[in-house]
Amino acid sequence: MSNEETIAPLPEIVREIGEAGGKSYRFCFQCGKCDVVCPWNRVRTFSIRKIVRQATFGLPEIELEDIWRCTTCGTCPAQCPRGVEQIEVGVSIRRIASSYGVFPGSVRALRTARASLAAEGNPLGEARSARAAWASRLSVAPFAEGMELLFFGCCYQSYDPRMRKVAVATAEILQRAGVSFGILGTRESCCGESIRKTGSEQVFKSLARENIKAFIDSGVKRILVSSPHCYHTFLNEYPEFMVNFPVVHISQLLLELIEQGRLELSGSYRKRVTYHDPCYLGRHNGIYDQPRAVLGALAGLELVEMADHRQRSLCCGGGGGRIWADTPKGERFADLRVAQAQQVGAEVLVTACPYCISNFEESRLALDEEGALEIKDITEIVQESLRGGEEAR
Ligand code: SF4
Ligand code: SF4
Repeated sequence: MSNEETIAPLPEIVREIGEAGGKSYRFCFQCGKCDVVCPWNRVRTFSIRKIVRQATFGLPEIELEDIWRCTTCGTCPAQCPRGVEQIEVGVSIRRIASSYGVFPGSVRALRTARASLAAEGNPLGEARSARAAWASRLSVAPFAEGMELLFFGCCYQSYDPRMRKVAVATAEILQRAGVSFGILGTRESCCGESIRKTGSEQVFKSLARENIKAFIDSGVKRILVSSPHCYHTFLNEYPEFMVNFPVVHISQLLLELIEQGRLELSGSYRKRVTYHDPCYLGRHNGIYDQPRAVLGALAGLELVEMADHRQRSLCCGGGGGRIWADTPKGERFADLRVAQAQQVGAEVLVTACPYCISNFEESRLALDEEGALEIKDITEIVQESLRGGEEAR
């Protein structure tokens, strides 16, 4: 009998955590460096170190809220001197909780999101048949083999009224640049990134298989995404299914189109702007320069940096499935971020992720009484400048 089995009251849980990808808990020597950098400790006490410790002994407290707090922001893994994968440890514990159907108060909505994903391919309780409704007034074609790009709009861009504006801005820019692209519409399902992080592995796998089949059947060669969560999943997680689809995030594509001379930024954008690095674009995938280069290409735009930027960017609070969680006032990271944008005198807080935009819009309503701060996706800024250029002609 191993030492671990002697100590562990629940050896099967230790094994289950290990099998679910959380094996690295063994290396932790409880230094606490992870807790120091975790954004939760700016708003309340929370210890991922303690969760890693509990995993070692097979004693995760699956009934408590704490196992659901990690937003998978990616800040603490980079600080760990022992290579512990805190996110994987946390997700593996959530898999156990999910399999028992244990969801405490703040994350009960996960059950609804999961059911909607399984039934309709989106977490918002919307009908699959309405997935392409955002494009009805634009001449966006269904994807056909031979097109340059498949534009994979995420669930929020397909259904959420605020985020639909981003899908429209993206389509308008692509049309302006002469890119041949199409959408899959009802054949498209959620990428599955966030539900996977909540421990619902089977739902993730089934969504991934649906999408992969649709990509292969349609002859997709390159996928354009607006959500860093879709980007991360297609690039880093779908290869688990033995497929590798080239994927490009809109912030990368915009720069590519500008550099190729296909997108001419004739207008200007005379505002003080600050850019928020989404966790899954920046820390998880190293994309920091391209969005800043796109903003830098707009005449008149003044780019200022917030206190926490690039690798140290402050999470909006929406990753790891927490976009579906209830976070009480006083504990919302997005409130801190909006305050940081105000502190540098920004007129516009720009980002490139639907979760960030949703959370910032909510915080803006609560904190920005004078309505001085605008929240924008990078495509909306480019679209506005293109329209301005047109009017000036
Ligand atoms: S930083 Fe790594 S070794 Fe230190 S407590 Fe956290 S998980 Fe353990
Ligand atoms: S990944 Fe981010 S939110 Fe999760 S424990 Fe680490 S620092 Fe905290």
